[in-house]
Amino acid sequence: MQDDWSLNPNVRKLLQRVPLPISLPTPLRRGQGRTAVTELVGTRAVLTHVRDALDLALAQAVQHAGAAVTIVDAAGDTTLTGRVVDAGGQLAPATADLPGGVLSAIAASGATGDRRPVTLIHRVTRPHGSDVAVNDATDALLAVGHAAASLPPNSRLLLVLGMELRGDATGALITAATQGFARSAFKELGKTGSACHVIRVEDAQAAAALATFLAGPRAAFLNGLDLLAQKSLAGDAAPTPELDGKVVLVTGAARGIGAAIAERLALEGAHVWINDIAQSQAAAADTVAQIRARGGQAEFIAADVGTLSGAQAIADAIRQGAGHVDGVIHNAGITRDRTLRKMSVAQWRQVLQVNFGAMHLVQTALAPILQPGASMVLMSSVMGISGNFGQTNYSASKSAVIELARQWACEGFARGLRANAIAPGFILTDMTAQMPVINREMAKQLTAMLQPGLPLDVADLACFLVGAQSRGVTGQVLRCDGGMAFGA
Ligand code: NAD
Repeated sequence: MQDDWSLNPNVRKLLQRVPLPISLPTPLRRGQGRTAVTELVGTRAVLTHVRDALDLALAQAVQHAGAAVTIVDAAGDTTLTGRVVDAGGQLAPATADLPGGVLSAIAASGATGDRRPVTLIHRVTRPHGSDVAVNDATDALLAVGHAAASLPPNSRLLLVLGMELRGDATGALITAATQGFARSAFKELGKTGSACHVIRVEDAQAAAALATFLAGPRAAFLNGLDLLAQKSLAGDAAPTPELDGKVVLVTGAARGIGAAIAERLALEGAHVWINDIAQSQAAAADTVAQIRARGGQAEFIAADVGTLSGAQAIADAIRQGAGHVDGVIHNAGITRDRTLRKMSVAQWRQVLQVNFGAMHLVQTALAPILQPGASMVLMSSVMGISGNFGQTNYSASKSAVIELARQWACEGFARGLRANAIAPGFILTDMTAQMPVINREMAKQLTAMLQPGLPLDVADLACFLVGAQSRGVTGQVLRCDGGMAFGA
């Protein structure tokens, strides 16, 4: 599937001059090839606060990933800021403060006309004096919002909430105000291909790895996420997915999003087990051949995930061929859209069984060969969050998937197992090609980034979630939707 928004720059300029209500989406800066340690080369990062170990972990992570770092914190801890400066970062002038300081720091950190994307990392702080703390914190949000609104295309605003905001009423109010701000800000920033995310932090290392991913090109189509970065019992989060030699199953992977995920995982060095129904054998063979042609490892298992025998066949094949499994992408899914009046019992049950029931069957069959620290990714949909006309069966199944991910995460936490749901929005695949043209156009207009996503966008997110980079992320739902104007 092609990104139908990659317009020739001259055509784009011409269309922008036409006095018609045409909104042209900004081309997104996506990643290519295997995830590099230096994903942020060619970008800038500006931090508004460097005063403790969390701030330092964030600054050092983006700096190691290749971003040119500037600190705009007149009252920053000189020992900590010094470490960032020693590694090539710079300090904005001591008088610099929000918001002018952020803007001038962005301008000063590059040559005139520099359009390199900026990651603006704002630690939402709790100023002294609890009666004024909420106002001070919300005023600072407006200041960083002003700065974020002037950033070059494909920039990010990351709002970081530390542990000190937990446990009392003032902290809870500041947290809620920040989350509300972000839910509106991402809709404004999206039209320039930029994004705003909230990171609630329990573990600094996990937050640093998450921030680096969100700042980078693998998160180009993500917008408006609100995530918790936790300590993982499987070890510290790493700067890359570290999937070399890992055994990963992807269900429904003959084509579309599943095939893109399988190809991305193989590129990262994983041994990929591709499942799909027997009728998709030819498409699956193509996907396997493409992976092998690039030097990757892939096998095909023909099985219907919605049946007990199909789930068992998948587990048997992987046990015999690899002996264990390190990750599972439960991706197979179908639609049988009907209004309630016309929905048959068969259409209802089929969708619930393939999209949701199958995950339980496959996971149960794989349980004896699941490695400690394994990660499960469950494919949901924004329709499981917002609902949609004519999709009661699909929404029910995809909403149950989100809860299933939460339950698996709770059950597996002590063994270092993780589970997360991905909720794609409008992604260009064979499934969405069946949508009426008018619905496709509406879906683009309802997206803050004014464009559909590509299977690669979901694949990049799945790769992050199944790998070591996301070790502090579990039990959560991550929308991959360019910032849909409804839902979540
Ligand atoms: P797709 O129809 O292109 O591919 C789905 C694959 O699943 C097909 O190869 C199909 O043969 C396989 N499959 C169906 N039933 C199966 C079964 N019983 N056992 C094994 N394999 C089976 O769909 P897609 O657009 O690539 O979607 C992939 C996943 O993403 C689905 O779960 C879908 O609900 C979800 N999703 C997609 C979008 C989108 O915009 N495309 C949006 C939200 C969610």
